[in-house]
Amino acid sequence: MSMSFDLIRCAIKRRLILPLCTVLIISSGSGQPAQRAAAYPLDAPVKHTAAARTSSQPPDYHRALPSAEVLIDVGHGGIDGGAHHEEVLEKDINLAVAKKLYLLLQASGIRAILNRDADYALSDDNRWNPAGSRHRRDLSQRSQLTKEIETRILVSIHVNWAPDKTEHGPLVLHQNEGESALLAFCIQDALNRKQNTRALPRVGRPFYLLNVVKQPAVIVELGFLSHEGDREMLTDPRKQVQLAEAIHSGVRNYILLR
Ligand SMILES: [Zn+2]
Repeated sequence: MSMSFDLIRCAIKRRLILPLCTVLIISSGSGQPAQRAAAYPLDAPVKHTAAARTSSQPPDYHRALPSAEVLIDVGHGGIDGGAHHEEVLEKDINLAVAKKLYLLLQASGIRAILNRDADYALSDDNRWNPAGSRHRRDLSQRSQLTKEIETRILVSIHVNWAPDKTEHGPLVLHQNEGESALLAFCIQDALNRKQNTRALPRVGRPFYLLNVVKQPAVIVELGFLSHEGDREMLTDPRKQVQLAEAIHSGVRNYILLR
């Protein structure tokens, strides 16, 4: 399968405060990146008021942006490594699995977007909420992308950690509503089959992203970095493919049910 990479950068024009989003769109063989890229007015002037520059609200601007079925939110990045075990960092596992998931979705005709395609912090892209903490800027940047990019569902990829080293297995967290719960059940079921576990998805009440995103959204905790067996699975590229395949199959089942 030949893949063409269409890297779309929403660049900052002079001192404008567009959130700098790097969105990677990979189209399978038939894609026409040149045409698609031309649809985005990347260097069109955008009107901002002085108030908008200092506001904690994102700027009010409208522009053509890509649409997709699935926005893959790649947990952490850059200075924020997420959970870790010695040299193993959650952010790297998230990215590796997310990229594989992305390719699988695209290959099966489900348009997907990654909100991070390399190791950087999304908080650095957030120029519209300078007062917030880095963590808050990171989270608000992730949720803002779900408003800017027309997507049907959001799948956030993470790795779990627990002081109890026997805790293991996948866990999918969902919003307190039916669509998100259905998506979570589909993905949890597929991951349970792959990992031979029986966990049920849960409502992720304290999670900012699940609370603010309007679309059905889930946080997929792939396994526990603190568990030896899970860690082996999470860091093995072949097993990462299997994890991505399971999430892909869960997403596909959800889409087929809707
Ligand atoms: Zn995480």
